[in-house]
Amino acid sequence: MTTSPEIDRIVDAIRSRRRFVLSSHARPDGDSIGSQLAMAYALKALGKEATAVNADLAPPPLLQFPGVADIRIAPDVPGDFDAAIIMECGDLSRTGVKGLERFFVINIDHHPGNSAYGQINWFDASAAACGEMVFDLVRALGVPFTTEIATHIYLAILTDTGSFHYSSISPRTFDISKQCLEAGVDPVRVARHVYDSNNMGRLKLFGSVLSAMQIDQTGRIAIVYLDHEMARAAGGTYEDTEGLINLPLTVKEIQAVVFFKQSEGDEYRVSMRSKGEIDIGAIAKQFGGGGHKNAAGCTVTGPIDALQKTFVENIEHAIDGRPADR
Ligand code: 5GP
Ligand code: MN
Repeated sequence: MTTSPEIDRIVDAIRSRRRFVLSSHARPDGDSIGSQLAMAYALKALGKEATAVNADLAPPPLLQFPGVADIRIAPDVPGDFDAAIIMECGDLSRTGVKGLERFFVINIDHHPGNSAYGQINWFDASAAACGEMVFDLVRALGVPFTTEIATHIYLAILTDTGSFHYSSISPRTFDISKQCLEAGVDPVRVARHVYDSNNMGRLKLFGSVLSAMQIDQTGRIAIVYLDHEMARAAGGTYEDTEGLINLPLTVKEIQAVVFFKQSEGDEYRVSMRSKGEIDIGAIAKQFGGGGHKNAAGCTVTGPIDALQKTFVENIEHAIDGRPADR
């Protein structure tokens, strides 16, 4: 178990307060939901009040996990609290929930470039998932490591490491995962819930998006695109594209993927993934977004052809500027 002065301060802040609101980023993923709910269960075990609130619904496969259906979806904080625990957000606005700044804010995050917006700020960019940090906090709080808490920690780690693919993985990742299994987590069941519980519309959408995929001149970058018209035609939704970005990386020669998803008009959500030492997090940051070395995103506006060209050029530079991938 890792200890730090920040963990001690957070433990003290939690012990002296009773009503907590917990939030994580808009368009939540496995790490944000897992971190948030592991924390909520730990607070409840201490006899505290814990209300989870997010701007957006969890992706449908995650609705099968304990407590996910009880997360409040709201644009504003629902009520009065003694403290807000924000996980996985580089900035408070990433929550998409208004009013959180009214409370004593505890900021727990593993994204490089966190803006330290809390009264207590704990970040650890070496954590493969925010869930690894929450694990340490749960242990420091002396809360029993129940199957529910362990399931959410494991969900966070499984998804934020791209199913144990990314370079952020450390011995600690496996040590915590081991303790999750010892606490009763069934990894087969978690993987089935996360990866094998989709609808047919999603598969059709994957087919349509992947058939339109382009490869850059050097054969190393996959460029993926989706607009509302394509989603409608395939009978899927934008939420159904979760995980799609990882598929081009399964091709040996492909070193990075950039996925453009039309928001409205000329505005696009950009998601990027890379292998090994290729740092696409720095590229996302350059365009006002953020993330990690191997998984990052941003929102950009402009004609799609020019945007694709710009991102491909940047990624090519990132690939060429690194030691060869073995
Ligand atoms: P995804 O591609 O799955 O949306 O995001 C991958 C990673 O990049 C996640 O860790 C996510 O938090 C981060 N990320 C994605 N979009 C943004 C953004 O617009 N701003 C920031 N700061 N981080 C982002
Ligand atoms: Mn994360």
